[in-house]
Amino acid sequence: MEFEGIVIRVTPFREYDAMVNVLGKDRLFSFLAPGVLKFNSKLASSVNLYSRSRFQTSKGKEGFRLRNAELLDSYENIKNNLTSLAVADFLGEITNQFIQSDDASDIYPFLEKALDSLNEGFDPKTVALIYFAKVLNVAGFGLEVDSCQKCGQTSAIVAVSYKDGGFICENCFDPLKHVKCSAYKLKVIRFIFKVDVDNFKKVTFEEPVVDELLKELNKFVKDVVQIELKSIKLLLKI
Ligand SMILES: [Zn+2]
Repeated sequence: MEFEGIVIRVTPFREYDAMVNVLGKDRLFSFLAPGVLKFNSKLASSVNLYSRSRFQTSKGKEGFRLRNAELLDSYENIKNNLTSLAVADFLGEITNQFIQSDDASDIYPFLEKALDSLNEGFDPKTVALIYFAKVLNVAGFGLEVDSCQKCGQTSAIVAVSYKDGGFICENCFDPLKHVKCSAYKLKVIRFIFKVDVDNFKKVTFEEPVVDELLKELNKFVKDVVQIELKSIKLLLKI
């Protein structure tokens, strides 16, 4: 089998082998890559974490095995910047945690764009936040940001309610349940859940708001989806 994809997890297996998980353009793949952890392995760079490569696999007794690979993009610059590297780890973790094979084609263009953006030096935390929102959209946990989730009106939006799944208007605002958001924060939330892949790099966000939203979305997935993300802790410290 031959396919193109981005390596999202590498698990060392036996002495020099690795199990490799790849997000392909239309599905997830996993295969054994024999010998790739040897220092002189020709295929090592193709199965590095976050490499984009073309893979050739064949079916063996233990599942699929890597036969050959061609590295298409190693996103080398990401490794030179600690924040970008922390964000890349975060992108990999949320892809592994939330994305099912059926959703691969919806998220693939965004992961490719996110890695490209990091590699070009675009603001890493903006990349993290937008990709987080895209993964939640694709996994069915995205927020509704077109209207109030209580009454449906589209004007006078003042808050976001994770419990209600989206925006809340002035009339439905309940100070015991909701916290008012700044107009800027509401704009950022709307942008991240609505933006398409072509406008991914349209704007960078103010860091305090990005940190606040990363924390809130992290709490949301912990409470509602019961997924505890590990890589976000480092991201919020940088
Ligand atoms: Zn309302």
